[in-house]
Amino acid sequence: MLKTFSKGGIHPPENKISAEKPIENLSIPDIVTIPVSQHIGKPSKVIVKRREKVKVGQLIAESSGFISANIHSSVSGTVTKIDSIVDSSGYKRQAVFIKVEGDEWLETIDRSIEINRKIALSADEIVKKVNESGIVGLGGATFPTHVKLSVPKDMTAEILLINGVECEPYLTSDHRLMIEKAEEIVVGTRLLMTALGVEKAVIGIENNKEDAINNFTHLLKEYDGIEVQALKVKYPQGGEKQLIKAITGREVPSGGLPIAVGAVVHNVGTAFAVYEAIQKNKPLFERVVTITGKSVNYFANFVVRIGTPISKLIDKSGGFPDDTGKIISGGPMMGKALNSLDIPVTKGTSGVLLIRDVESKRRKSHACIRCAKCITVCPMGLEPYVLMTATQKKIFERVEKDRVLDCIECGSCSYVCPSDRPLLDYIRLGKANVGRIVRERNSN
Ligand code: SF4
Ligand code: SF4
Repeated sequence: MLKTFSKGGIHPPENKISAEKPIENLSIPDIVTIPVSQHIGKPSKVIVKRREKVKVGQLIAESSGFISANIHSSVSGTVTKIDSIVDSSGYKRQAVFIKVEGDEWLETIDRSIEINRKIALSADEIVKKVNESGIVGLGGATFPTHVKLSVPKDMTAEILLINGVECEPYLTSDHRLMIEKAEEIVVGTRLLMTALGVEKAVIGIENNKEDAINNFTHLLKEYDGIEVQALKVKYPQGGEKQLIKAITGREVPSGGLPIAVGAVVHNVGTAFAVYEAIQKNKPLFERVVTITGKSVNYFANFVVRIGTPISKLIDKSGGFPDDTGKIISGGPMMGKALNSLDIPVTKGTSGVLLIRDVESKRRKSHACIRCAKCITVCPMGLEPYVLMTATQKKIFERVEKDRVLDCIECGSCSYVCPSDRPLLDYIRLGKANVGRIVRERNSN
């Protein structure tokens, strides 16, 4: 039977136009720009100098704390400068600029395509290697993976959920990975299970990806303890809390983490990266990125070296369509608008979406008609119109009391509002203010 989460949710048009496009390698650019902050947590510390020669896979910036991640060179060549750039978040970040010379990989990386199924490392060794390899959540959250694998002593992981939902419209990078790298994902899942000490894992996939579900169903006959669960199509099922609810029926408490209900969630792309790190000794320096949009000439799924400018992807997809209104990093619901084509692909870039001008224009906002549609669709059981109004009035005690920090920024409320109220914009503002107030309170 198809499962899904119980509260709210919407059904935006899927527009998965690149789903049939096999993964291709994008050619390496002349210069890469690799930001030292591509993850949640502290920025990494650059350990290379100007004019230094580097190889593909070489460590160039070291993790600077427990919640941080190593950064590796995605190319071979010469470091030309260490300077700041504006990244997809709109903030200035330090980045390492490397002029590409050839494509020389570290000799320690196993580049063979044979699947290595044998797990030789202990739980601690897997977590250490995942940490060294700079792996972060590739579903977009970019939370360092080793942190999620380090379960607090007073808690127990019971089940691992592998997120193959990819509920954002247009994006297909995870879908293609599940078709083309399914067994590597399964071995990666086994490695994650070993690291967590759990006996059970479930790969959750929405049933609009029947080929991926069939692929895993067939493959998993040979792997004990891992199941595939087909899920009803509903946005935002890829949210951790929604996926846990859909598969296990457990509800993560307000302000709590998945481990509070014994669950740990990792994305399929992360499971694949873990496979490559452990079984192939390959750090995370490239990822699959979807380039798509209704006017895009050649929509596709590319393996892209981290640090490649977005412009290179757009060139390869047939150039910039004349009717483009917005460039989005990620999907249309949770992605971020980009203001430059020089912005590099990072570990968190799942897709680049070129939205047509006619679709990207904001409609004029009108007064709230109290229709309660925003409440009905909120997957976190919040009252978006109240959160917006309280934020506008700067009544942040109310905003906090009404659980603004539980908002997962899925955009469902803004999507359904018949008055085109900019609900999410205000809710983000409310969240930022409440977050600051809570931090100040906790530091006193
Ligand atoms: S953006 Fe936040 S408030 Fe709006 S529907 Fe999603 S979780 Fe609810
Ligand atoms: S959906 Fe829009 S109009 Fe309806 S209650 Fe929410 S904010 Fe008001």
